[in-house]
Amino acid sequence: MFADLHLHTNFSDGTYTPEELVAQAARNKLSAIALTDHDTVEGCERAAIACKAVEIEFIPGAELTAEQNDNEIHILGYFLDTHNKKLLEEIAKFQADRQNRIHEMVARLNQLKVPLRVEDVIKLANCRSPGRPHVARALVKAGFCSSLDEAFERFLKKHRPAFVPKTKISAQVAIELIHQASGLAVMAHPGLNRTDEVIPDLVDAGLDGIECFHTKHSTAVSEHYLEIADKYNLLVTGGSDCHGMSKGRPLIGTVKLPYQHVEKLKEAVAARSQLNQK
Ligand SMILES: [Zn+2]
Ligand SMILES: [Zn+2]
Repeated sequence: MFADLHLHTNFSDGTYTPEELVAQAARNKLSAIALTDHDTVEGCERAAIACKAVEIEFIPGAELTAEQNDNEIHILGYFLDTHNKKLLEEIAKFQADRQNRIHEMVARLNQLKVPLRVEDVIKLANCRSPGRPHVARALVKAGFCSSLDEAFERFLKKHRPAFVPKTKISAQVAIELIHQASGLAVMAHPGLNRTDEVIPDLVDAGLDGIECFHTKHSTAVSEHYLEIADKYNLLVTGGSDCHGMSKGRPLIGTVKLPYQHVEKLKEAVAARSQLNQK
């Protein structure tokens, strides 16, 4: 039995609907999945219904963008109460910031004589959590770039002329936000930016787990983070970070997390809720 605990839908920058994602999960014979869209839990209800129909265990989640000592850190929240008032309020703020950022990126592109329109990006994104991948897709669709890679290389990457930094919450605030919404907080893809020095701080802030298995982690990198998980007594998670067809092929199911880790997550979340009740 295997799980994939890092998945995106078209409620953020993935291309699949929740139902399409779950159909892919069934095709890959996954026993459990988590939906972790950027700054939103909107897709969770539909994904839960679709999972129930095909008897796949569903974990509601989200991926929050945070920072620690100037490093961008993604924090995954699992088993979130998707009706938690404070979580929804904060998510609304993150989404407003994302929308402002789209306006700023388009303004910069316009200054560079690339006449992309905000409406084109918003229409294409068609969600409350628009981001750079949507701007990149709009640039390709309008014929200003020939590929998503080109869009990022020429304009959208950090230090490129249309890059606009995101205002970020601290990792500690992200972890607290997840905890007060009954969730577990997990550091996403630590091997992507290799900022291991922040891990002790995150552990002090209450981090519950670390994503040891990820599409972009080599076996050696996964083993390195398994050791770190062991050292700090962190839960182990893993997922493909599938964004649907946006990168040419769907990644769902390419990272297979042994189900025993899901059991451990469930034990931890049950222990947390007992603690909260006391
Ligand atoms: Zn991420
Ligand atoms: Zn992700």
